[in-house]
Formats: sequence, structure tokens, C-alpha cells
Amino acid sequence: MKTYDVIIIGGGPAAIVTGITIKKYFNQKSVLMIKEEKEGLVPCGIPYIFNLLGNDADKNKMGPKPFIDLGGEVIINTAIKVDKEKKLVSLKTGEQFGYNKLVFATGSLPLIPESIPGYNLQNVFYIKKSYPYIKELTAKIGSFKNIVIVGGGFIGAEVAEQLAESNMNVTLVESEPNCFSKAFSPELSQIATNVLNNTKVNVLTSTIVKEIVGNDGKVNQVILSDGKKIEAEVVFFSIGYRANSKLAEETGLELNRYGDIHVDNYGRTTIENISAVGDCAQTFGFLTGRSDMIKLASTATAEARILGHNIFGVRIKKCTSGTLGVFSTEINGLAMAGAGASEKSAHESCIEIVSAKFSSPDRHPASLPDVSELTVKLYASPVDGSILGGEAWGGKSVGEIINIISMAIQKSITVYELVSFQIGTHPLLTSSPVVNPIIRAAEEIIYKVMQDKK
Ligand SMILES: Cc1cc2nc3c(=O)[nH]c(=O)nc-3n(C[C@H](O)[C@H](O)[C@H](O)COP(=O)(O)OP(=O)(O)OC[C@H]3O[C@@H](n4cnc5c(N)ncnc54)[C@H](O)[C@@H]3O)c2cc1C
Repeated sequence: MKTYDVIIIGGGPAAIVTGITIKKYFNQKSVLMIKEEKEGLVPCGIPYIFNLLGNDADKNKMGPKPFIDLGGEVIINTAIKVDKEKKLVSLKTGEQFGYNKLVFATGSLPLIPESIPGYNLQNVFYIKKSYPYIKELTAKIGSFKNIVIVGGGFIGAEVAEQLAESNMNVTLVESEPNCFSKAFSPELSQIATNVLNNTKVNVLTSTIVKEIVGNDGKVNQVILSDGKKIEAEVVFFSIGYRANSKLAEETGLELNRYGDIHVDNYGRTTIENISAVGDCAQTFGFLTGRSDMIKLASTATAEARILGHNIFGVRIKKCTSGTLGVFSTEINGLAMAGAGASEKSAHESCIEIVSAKFSSPDRHPASLPDVSELTVKLYASPVDGSILGGEAWGGKSVGEIINIISMAIQKSITVYELVSFQIGTHPLLTSSPVVNPIIRAAEEIIYKVMQDKK
């Protein structure tokens, strides 16, 4: 039986980045990754398989090649048991491997709505991060015409838009008054819902799926809370993900109330020499320190770098002080993103905020081709002016604008500092320096705070 310095269970972004980081900085250490499926997908690219990528899952593949190139070993198998005393991992096929350090990167699985009658009918699908599952789905999807998608978060909405673009009749059912309401403020989720309404998707908000009715064991109709019936051959559930933490629980690791594996700032679990990272591990709110449930690839890979550096002993100290959810998406050409607090989450956590927004063209002059209106909304502390959150919407630059805002939140930059934020501008690339929306939104907040003090 071979013993490795590190065994990683999992094959998603968290496992791959943990493996790369360890092999890059501790090249002499032996690292084995146990992943259950041979082929992997870029999880965030899955919605685009259904249209932009031509219904071809092979165009969205992702694997551990960078880890293997650094000397990491990979075995395709399922880890079914961990003996924490003997430090052994047992595989489905009976082999065993020893470890000095063990990493759980077992990810998350879609929520199954067992309380909805008909949830187990044939042609009820989930957005699973699984190559064989999605490959099989893409082979079938062309034979369907009417699809109901349950859940208007960013995953359900992205999949709905893509399927509608490929000429299917898509109805998206969301229980909240707006889609995207968990990721964005009420203002931005309303904008996002309006944008989605302008696509070919039939969007039903404030509506709940009561029952899925079958015919011959297959989906035939969806019954809604208002009594309305929708003909459908397929239902996709996109109602959230939960940690895949069964093996961790069986190993004796402590889980939190959401079922996520309890970890400290360095990804260490309650059992010595065992860590957890990514969607299976617990997150803490960046501002509150409260246990929350942010499951993003961006978060998973940040945690994985921290774990990779610190797995043999803390080298880069105190690098995590909570998880800042940074969400971005694009629907019908409008990019939208949010980071940290918004008025809704601040209210729920009793955090005082002041907000302001500013819009300007993202090129200058605005008569240039390819110009979009860019809006930045900042949320700051009325006491010290530190940036607590932000949102942006407009053209593609939003994807990186939100990352600037994320940095400002993480480094506690204040609106007073943003006034002298030194930026580079170019007519074809950015807003005019006169109306940079981050700086101008910060100035608006200062103005509001000064007015309040008068
Ligand atoms: C459709 C979709 C779109 C998304 N878009 C975005 C986005 O735009 N931006 C963003 O930041 N995030 C996005 N996410 C979230 C992101 O995909 C997840 O946060 C990310 O995949 C988490 O990575 P992970 O490695 O922790 O877990 P996972 O990706 O879930 O990987 C876990 C892996 O572990 C393997 N495994 C589990 N148990 C075992 C075992 N016992 N033995 C061996 N292997 C095992 C699984 O097969 C799987 O490969 C999206 C998710 C989905 C589904």
C-alpha cells in the first residue's frame, strides 16, 4: 500500500487548485488526487453548453492537467471510507492508500425537492457538475420543446436564457418577486428580472411549483401555486446546492447547521491532518463573521490557494477573514455584478450603510462604437466611509469593475481614499477620467454624509 504526503478527494476547481498550489510550492511532496469521474466540466460554463457552445459538452471540458504537469498523480475512483486513526482512504474498487494530510474537496450536489409531488418522474433534470450527466442531457435535449426551469437564481436564469435561444419554449418559475434576489440588491435584481423578461424566456415570479404531473411516468405538466398548468416534457430544478459532506460526516468531521464541513481560517477541520476546501466547506460572512453558505468557484479557488500554502504549517498567516460573495452574470448582453453588502443584506445583519450610484459611458467620447452605459453603486459605512459593498451593471467591463470594488471592500478602502484613486483611462477602453463611476459614486456618498451632518 502506498502512502502519500497528501491525498485530495475531489476533482473540481477546489481540488485542482489545491493540488497545483501544493505541487508548485512543495514539489518534493507526493500528492494523489482521487476523482470519481474521468472527464470534468468548467462548472460555470455549463449553461453555455446548451446554446453558445453548440450543445457540445466537450467544448467545456476541464481537468487536472496543470496538476499532473507539476508531478501530481490522479486516480479515477470514488473514495468511500476514511480511517482517520490509521490515516487510510479506501476506494470503491477495494484499494487503499495511506496519507499524511487529507483534503476533502468533495464539492456540492443539487438540492432535490422531495416535497414536490412528481419530482422523481422521468425527464426531471438538475444542473449537475458532471460531464457524463450533462453529455447525456445534451444528447436528449433536442427532442424536447417545452421546458420548465424551477429557480431564478443566476444558474437557473443563465440556463433558461441559453435554452430559449436554442428555440425551446422555456418558462422560468421563481418564488421571489424578482430573480437573482439572493445575489443582488432589490434594485439590481429587478433590473436583472426585466432584462430576462426581454429574452425569449417566459418569466413567472412570485410563483411556486406545486406539482409535476406525469404521463406514463414521464413529465407532462407543471401545476403552479396560482392553479395555472403548463405543458412541459422536461423540468429542470435549479433551487440550490448543498455540501457533499456525507463521507466527511462518516469520517467523524464536524459539520455546521447547513451540513458544510467545519473549518478554520486555513481550511483545517476539527480532526488533525484533515482539511476541507470549496463547496463542501463552511464559509463565514466577510462583514459579520457568521456562518453562511457561499458556494462559488472563485471562493473555492481562493480557499484552495490558502490551503495549499498552509497545509504543512501556516506560512501565510491570517489570509482569510471571511468570505466575500462576488457574483457576476450576463443576461441578454447586460453584465451585472455584486460584491459584499447591499441594502437588503445590511438590513438583515443590522449594518448601517449609506449608498450612492453613478452612471457614465464606459468609453469616451460616448459617440464611439461599442459603448455601454456603466452604473456603479457603492455601499459604505456612514461612520468611517469604508466600502462595505458594491454593484455594477453595464457592458463587459463590469466583470472586472466588481473585482476592483471587491478589493476595496477587502482592504477597507474608504470613500475618502477613493477620491484620489489613481486610475488609467483610454477612450477605447474606459470611462472618461472626469466621470469614472467608482470615484463619482464615492463622491456622491461623501456628499450625502456631509448633507446629513449639516
Ligand atoms: C451551472 C453552474 C454555474 C456556475 N457559475 C459560477 C460562476 O459563474 N462563478 C462562480 O464563481 N461559481 C459558479 N458556480 C459555482 C461553482 O461551480 C462551484 O462553486 C465550484 O464548482 C466548487 O468547486 P469544488 O471543487 O468545491 O466542488 P465541485 O465542483 O462540486 O467538485 C467536487 C468534485 O469532487 C468529486 N467527488 C465528490 N465526492 C467524491 C468521492 N467520494 N471520491 C472522489 N471524488 C469525489 C465530484 O465528482 C466532483 O468532481 C456555478 C455552478 C454551476 C452548477
